[in-house]
Amino acid sequence: MVANGISNGDGKSVPREIETRLFINNEFVKAQKEGTFEVINPATEEITAHVQEATNADVELAVAAAEAAFPAWSELGGFQRAAYFYKLADLFEQHNDQLALLEAVSMGRPVSTYTEGLASARFLRYMAGKATDIQGESSLQTAGFVNITLRQPYGVCAAITPWNAPVTMMTFKMGPAVIAGNTLIAKSSEKAPLTSLLIAKLVKEAGFPPGVINILNGHGALCGAALSAHPRIRKISFTGSVRAGKAILEAAAKSNLKKVTLELGGKSPLIIFEDADVVSAAEAAAKSILLNSGQACIASSRVYVHESIADTIGKELVRVLKSQGSNPQEGNDPLLPTTRRGPQATEGQFTSILGYFSEAKEAGYEILCGGKQEGRKGFFIEPTVIFKADEQSRVMKEEVFGPVICLSVFTDEKEVLKRANDSEYGLYASVYTHDIKRALRVAKTFEAGNVGVNVTSPMMTHDMPFGGWKQSGIGQELGVYSVREWTELKTIYMAL
Ligand code: NAD
Repeated sequence: MVANGISNGDGKSVPREIETRLFINNEFVKAQKEGTFEVINPATEEITAHVQEATNADVELAVAAAEAAFPAWSELGGFQRAAYFYKLADLFEQHNDQLALLEAVSMGRPVSTYTEGLASARFLRYMAGKATDIQGESSLQTAGFVNITLRQPYGVCAAITPWNAPVTMMTFKMGPAVIAGNTLIAKSSEKAPLTSLLIAKLVKEAGFPPGVINILNGHGALCGAALSAHPRIRKISFTGSVRAGKAILEAAAKSNLKKVTLELGGKSPLIIFEDADVVSAAEAAAKSILLNSGQACIASSRVYVHESIADTIGKELVRVLKSQGSNPQEGNDPLLPTTRRGPQATEGQFTSILGYFSEAKEAGYEILCGGKQEGRKGFFIEPTVIFKADEQSRVMKEEVFGPVICLSVFTDEKEVLKRANDSEYGLYASVYTHDIKRALRVAKTFEAGNVGVNVTSPMMTHDMPFGGWKQSGIGQELGVYSVREWTELKTIYMAL
């Protein structure tokens, strides 16, 4: 553990102990092989914590603990498992402010906008309700037989999560995996591991039996690779980049062919037709790209606007983006209640975005606003609109993961749909129009797992499935689908 001074948001420094160890079998333990990694505060560029790094030996311990816990946990009734979830949900709610502080000093998320603890509490309660919804089917369609199916947990499972929404991503996996009767080893991102360790503390406080939920810190190449290739882990769920998703799929194939669910990246199009409500469309586009400083897989990063309203939308977008600024006079501190927008979470992320800006400038694209670093300290980027970038350019094809909109102009519905779908990603797509027939036509034609009609991301709900088409993913999270993804199906044939 390290003791660190964290401001409480009123500018005061409150010494707080930050947990940095691994959580195995309901105990906080040091990594077996001496080793730590640094977590950097992206607003100050100072070290927040040195965190214990899990390697193969720690993964083995966690697998043994999860294996030992599985028989009793999977034999519990749904209501009994749900009781733990309700306690955990209450604790999430009570600790939202502490989660916010930890996220602020590890990934720069402003405390003023932080609600992940509250939203995750709601999700855990929803999942608790799903405990008794895990059912098979029956068939009398074969003469002389009654045939039934059972949905059963896999056993020991794993989850690997990204840094951009650490608490949400952890609960999206932990919730359905554990309510379905599996035991779990979750690895947090090396860039934002601190809230996962607070979750571990809450898991223990909620009274979960040892070994049901284990949480490891570490890098993808060490801990992540060990989990993906482990011969006794039967299912793994991953959220992160396409690159890492492919590595996990490959490791799963080469080891024990464990089942893999992948939630990967996005380059989401938003089409605004000439009959749309221009102000609400521009506001929605700005809100979508500013969420988490653009570090969201679902961000509407490609905006296509009909030529007749291109000028108005462009001006409106710039106005809203500028009004949703950070707080340069007060140093943009994510811990201050007045800061609305934080820095990019890491230096790598920050440098990568500046690289896209250099390319855009070299190509001669018009930049309607932004296009550079904001302030002098920390990894802040100005909200940016790049106008009419080449459809095949890197900034139009790749996930920038920053507050950067590519604004393009179209004249014809068919043509714009072709351009919108010309992407290897297919996570989220949106359309703004008052013409219901056109809305449905466009929604049907989008090649994406999620579509917004007169709304855009981050619109999503706990009870509806969320997943990506094409290289945006495999499988679904949320809703009843997520619980199904964490169960094996068995058919039983019974002769009469
Ligand atoms: P990342 O892929 O670099 O890392 C994600 C996690 O994978 C981390 O825990 C990392 O340690 C681990 N990892 C990396 N390489 C690995 C390997 N070879 N084997 C096993 N584990 C490995 O991604 P990131 O930079 O943390 O997150 C940003 C990405 O996540 C973006 O592409 C974003 O779009 C995506 N994302 C997707 C969703 C979604 O639901 N579709 C949600 C949030 C983020």
